[in-house]
Amino acid sequence: MTRLRTTKLPSGEALPVLGQGTWRMGENARARKTEVAALRLGIDLGMTLIDTAEMYADGGAERIVGEAISGRRDDVFVVTKFYPQNATRGRMAAACERSLTRLATDRIDLYLLHWRGDVPLKETLAGFDALLRSQKIRYAGVSNFDVEDLAELARLKEGLQRIVTNEVLYNLERRGIEWDLIPWMRKRHRPIIAYSPVEEGLLAHPHPVLTAVAKRHDATPAQIALAWVIREDGIIAIPKAARAAHVRENRGAADLRLSKRDLEELDESFPQPEGKKPLETR
Ligand code: NAP
Repeated sequence: MTRLRTTKLPSGEALPVLGQGTWRMGENARARKTEVAALRLGIDLGMTLIDTAEMYADGGAERIVGEAISGRRDDVFVVTKFYPQNATRGRMAAACERSLTRLATDRIDLYLLHWRGDVPLKETLAGFDALLRSQKIRYAGVSNFDVEDLAELARLKEGLQRIVTNEVLYNLERRGIEWDLIPWMRKRHRPIIAYSPVEEGLLAHPHPVLTAVAKRHDATPAQIALAWVIREDGIIAIPKAARAAHVRENRGAADLRLSKRDLEELDESFPQPEGKKPLETR
């Protein structure tokens, strides 16, 4: 297995192009051990970026992450998100403290506004500033922002400087962002974090073209779907896998290089957008 490829934040800090998601972890006490073990295995394999949110299992997923990173905090890059209703300066500070407690750490590497709500962006930026200054968070970002929201942010003083990424839905079935959002972020040297990269597991199911491409690489459809998401620089995929076999399989995807023929065949079955589509979300 080769070293995991990385992509860069505007600061120059390198992040692995494959991380780990945690949605639906922490919901069932009986699954706790397996989930912690899966995340720890992923860290061992280099998938050191872990994505979670205060929303997931009402804080339960953050607790799972806290357990998984205990004793190895410096090896991981922790991403968590706050609810839009917590996007005011005061509520952000309180939400951040609660997340820090559940994650059992003194800092969040990347703190994201989960989706846009009613709080003016200016106020959320002020909240980010305070948290950056007090070193509770190392970077700030957004999630589920379409190009118009990003443009609005960029018009605010320091808006773009503060926001280092946008986490959005992206996979073979959901290619809308290729039209405008990916180019917008690329132009500004900001990576995208692609969520649901295997469409919640659906792209792991047999599919004539995915299966044919997979066969040529001695790989699985899920691996091809993941290798496709991270085929170009500037995209980080965060598959969620509670099963060790899935974790290993996902890690293997980063070593695959899709050929021109593979990409053309995939384009036939999963067409590129032919115009602007509103951003799809979960
Ligand atoms: P996903 O990663 O596309 O799919 C997860 C599902 O696929 C799980 O059921 C998992 O099974 C299965 N799976 C994973 N690897 C597999 C493999 N190699 N073969 C077969 N099945 C496999 O979907 P997701 O959880 O929606 O997205 C990933 C992460 O993105 C989330 O966990 C979350 O952290 C983040 N996210 C963010 C937002 C947002 O609004 N910002 C929204 C949705 C998701 P097992 O668990 O049983 O292994």
